[in-house]
Amino acid sequence: MVLQASHYEILGLEAKCDISEVKRAYREKLLSSHPDKNQDRKQSPQIGDGVSIEKIKQAYRVLSEPEKRKRYDLLLAESYKKHGFHNTGEGLDSFSLDDFDYSTDSEDFSMDCPRCQAKKGFELTEDMLEQNAIESPNGGYLIVVQCSACSLWLQVTYDVVED
Ligand SMILES: [Zn+2]
Repeated sequence: MVLQASHYEILGLEAKCDISEVKRAYREKLLSSHPDKNQDRKQSPQIGDGVSIEKIKQAYRVLSEPEKRKRYDLLLAESYKKHGFHNTGEGLDSFSLDDFDYSTDSEDFSMDCPRCQAKKGFELTEDMLEQNAIESPNGGYLIVVQCSACSLWLQVTYDVVED
C-alpha cells in the first residue's frame, strides 16, 4: 500500500514543525520548483518527481492555518491507522512504553531518539495514546510516532494498566 505523500512530506517537514518552519519550507520549495531554477533541484532531490507547485501551495494552505492543520493531522492519523502506515510492524523498530521516561510534571512519556540522539525526540502524552493507539496484533496496544528532530518512525507498544 503506497500512501500519497503527506503535506509534511511534500514540504519536507517533520510532523511537529512550527509555523515559521512551514513558511520557510514553503518559500524554499516554491523557489526550487520554479522552472527557471532547475539547477536547484539537484540540491533538493526530494522535490521534483511529481511534486507540482499546486501541491506545494495546497500543503502550505493547510499547514499554515492552525485549524486546518489540526483537522489534517487528525485525518492523517486516521489514514495511517487505516493503512497501518506504510510499514507499521514491518521495518519499524519497536519499543515498549517501559523504555520511555514518565514525567509527573508534564504528564507525558519521553525518550531520546535512538537515531539522532535528540533529547526527548519521542514524546507521547496520554491524550495521544488514547486517540491514536491501535490494538496490537500481539496483544496490548501500539502507536506509531515520529521523532520530532529527524524522520525516524518507531512503533511503541504498551499494555493498558487499569487504575
Ligand atoms: Zn531523531
